[in-house]
Amino acid sequence: MKSKVGKSKIKKSISDEQSTGLLEGYGLIRRLTTLSEIVLQIDAAVSKEEIFEILRNETHWLTDYEVLYLALLNPMHTYYYIVTLSPITDASGLNHNYFNIEEGIPGWVIRNQSPLICDSTSGQGRSNALEGKFEELGIKTFLAVPIKSGQDKVGCLIFGSMNPDNYKEEDLAIAQLFGLQVAVVIKNVSFFEEAKKRITQIEIMNEISQKLNSTLEIEELLNATVEAIQQNFSYYDVSILLFTENKSELIVKAHAGGYENVSVIGMKQKVGEGLIGWVAQHGEYALANDVAQDPRYAPFEYHATKSELVLPIKISGEVVGVLNIEDSKTYAFDEMDVVVLQTLGDQISSALNNAQLYKEIMEANLKLTDLDHLKSEFLGIVSHDFRSPLSTIILAAKTLLRNEEVQKMNRFKEYLTMIVDQANRLNQLAEDTLSITEIESGQVTIESKVVNVERVIRDAISSVRFSNRHSVNYTVDQSVSFIKADQARLRQVLQNLLSNSIKYSPNGCNISVAVYDYSSDEVLFSVTDEGIGIKQEYHDKLFQKFSRVDSTEVKKIKGSGLGLWICKEIVEAHDGKIWVESEFGKGSTFKFTIRKADD
Ligand code: ADP
Repeated sequence: MKSKVGKSKIKKSISDEQSTGLLEGYGLIRRLTTLSEIVLQIDAAVSKEEIFEILRNETHWLTDYEVLYLALLNPMHTYYYIVTLSPITDASGLNHNYFNIEEGIPGWVIRNQSPLICDSTSGQGRSNALEGKFEELGIKTFLAVPIKSGQDKVGCLIFGSMNPDNYKEEDLAIAQLFGLQVAVVIKNVSFFEEAKKRITQIEIMNEISQKLNSTLEIEELLNATVEAIQQNFSYYDVSILLFTENKSELIVKAHAGGYENVSVIGMKQKVGEGLIGWVAQHGEYALANDVAQDPRYAPFEYHATKSELVLPIKISGEVVGVLNIEDSKTYAFDEMDVVVLQTLGDQISSALNNAQLYKEIMEANLKLTDLDHLKSEFLGIVSHDFRSPLSTIILAAKTLLRNEEVQKMNRFKEYLTMIVDQANRLNQLAEDTLSITEIESGQVTIESKVVNVERVIRDAISSVRFSNRHSVNYTVDQSVSFIKADQARLRQVLQNLLSNSIKYSPNGCNISVAVYDYSSDEVLFSVTDEGIGIKQEYHDKLFQKFSRVDSTEVKKIKGSGLGLWICKEIVEAHDGKIWVESEFGKGSTFKFTIRKADD
């Protein structure tokens, strides 16, 4: 074996054997012209593939070879891949094969940035697939020159010939010059292609982010994401795995690509096993551009995986799952792909977090709604069942009160009056509670019938007159003695307004109820007292749920702030309006309208 490395070791005898005649000069000029013509062509190329095609068709005008390879370095200078440029000999088996930068003749030339002429291919210590291919094809000598632009290493060109003494100094010089020109063009095109790839990736990422933000359903979200990644980035297989509850395993939750007839959803992977298990355990990404070389890789029988990238999905710094991307090519991922896909992994994390929070809130809401429903149902039943025994108590006490003997016994009369008053209060409370549950569940029904207005007013007065400390009177316009309304609910409104007038007026005050013909289709009810009155700022608010006047005077009087709200709901269910007119310290008038019956 005779192998000479570097400029200094190039065979000296080459130039000695050449005559320095006119012919030689002419040959060199012709080769230089060819070179500049080729360079002009590749200069106009816009993609690497286009450059390769021109090199494939034109380089043989420059120098003799049976095989021609281009080795291109990755941006991180960790590996190179081979592009076959010689259509003449079948050397395509090596096309797009990847090798570690430490391997083979191209690795040596790229690392040392020195040319190399060898007249044997046994290349001890530098054996790899390229050298093997040389031997297989009967290549006797080769010429390798680095492709570099300034300090930037781009790769190298390797010319191989079956003729043992094929390459001379002039060939070396021409090849080196060629290498410099090719480097510049490849660098520019790579830059352009890289920028284009990143822009596309950013566009895809935007699309995926929008998908991620458009749903809060976890399953839908994960499926949409894996499908978008797999289809847009054209990877062989994409899946998302999340931890099982005890965190000892991960389970496939979403999957796209791979063999369509093999469903991997629900499959499990133990923490610590395979690249997936490794990432789940360590919380860092794992990249294997040649899985056969990575001891962490656990093969999956249905997959023709050559490269695998696994990225952690973390919520608040804690790993909850992984994004697993596999490809059937070696070296499918470069460093920028990792950054882009990790960004997507982070977005999945925050989308998952939002979806999880949403799910929890929905579940909590559902529980609350259920509870609320139960509570309403319970209150409805209780208040309804309360009213019949109370009516019996009131009836019995009233009958006793009318008894002549009882009338004579003042103390007895007083106690019975107290029973009637308190039972009436309880009855009103039960009625209000029932109304609240009905209003809240949207079940307020109005049963309109012809109502004797005077009777309703008398009923209401008798049910709120706990004592005779206030004088209550009423007037009803003759024209509206009968109206169409829900009798029980109309009484309830009047009862609430009257009991407020009693509550918020000192003893001895007058309370009056009046009913007028208000307009062509409305009747007006009013309840007036001479009580504490209400400041203007509270007039509208008081009809809201739980609203009370914020004063020490009102705080002393027991109340829930629900009575007026119930009145408003009932009046509005009758198509009417309710409002208050009041002067602070002088008294209040609550007014409401009820729509007259059509007929
Ligand atoms: P409650 O009386 O149980 O507090 P309401 O909804 O019936 O609840 O009344 C709301 C608030 O309106 C009362 O707390 C009170 O401040 C005020 N209010 C109601 N009626 C009168 C009235 N006739 N005179 C003065 N203030 C009143």
